[in-house]
Amino acid sequence: TRRKMVAGNWKMNGNLALLAELDAIAAAAAAHPGVDVAMAVPATLIAPAAHRVPGLLIGAEDVHEADSGAHTGCVSAAMVREAGARFTIVGHSERRHDQHETSQDAWAKAAAAHRHGLSVILCCGETGAERDAGRAERVVQAQIEKSLPENASGDWLTLAYEPRWAIGTGRTPTLEDIAAIHAIARAKMRQLIGEAADGVRILYGGSVTGENARPILATPDVDGALVGGASLTAAKFVPIIAAAD
Ligand code: 13P
Repeated sequence: TRRKMVAGNWKMNGNLALLAELDAIAAAAAAHPGVDVAMAVPATLIAPAAHRVPGLLIGAEDVHEADSGAHTGCVSAAMVREAGARFTIVGHSERRHDQHETSQDAWAKAAAAHRHGLSVILCCGETGAERDAGRAERVVQAQIEKSLPENASGDWLTLAYEPRWAIGTGRTPTLEDIAAIHAIARAKMRQLIGEAADGVRILYGGSVTGENARPILATPDVDGALVGGASLTAAKFVPIIAAAD
């Protein structure tokens, strides 16, 4: 059986002062040992966050696919690992949108992260236009096909389904729609990596809050949540951890 995971993503938010929120989040993680609690923070905050709350899984929001080299402004998996990150997000829809990243990029980044001992949260999800056109399932299947590493297993990889239109909007798919996409994602992973797919957790992300977390987390094939806005304070994030237990 797959352990539940609640992961936060601070995106381009936060500063040294906000790290104080992590104290109560780490305490909640310790109080709910059945839940894996993780927090992805901006690159500049990885080292101080990992130092402040060694018991909490601190991660990066992205890594470059190369180990090192002439890539001004980028950060490699080895670099964030040395800073104290234990996982990284790859393929987030904001990077696909803002930095024009593709599923192939996400595949290369996941492989680089794994090479350097990081766990990976690999994101997929359709845009609003794609959902309106009835293409959500096909889009997610194609993203997984292009981005899932051949050697993926639940030991180091977690999938996150984040419909772009649900991110930061307060809108979420129906529980039926979430269940449908998660089932399709699971089936696609089975096709690609066989039985190992059954060990890979699938998180739902997009406007998850303390108010809606419980039914979402009880939906079939939902193994946790990836949380943006509501991960920025302990007051908002801790109830989501509790809802997962
Ligand atoms: P929100 O929870 O703010 O909608 O963001 C979700 C997300 O993109 C997490 O990666």
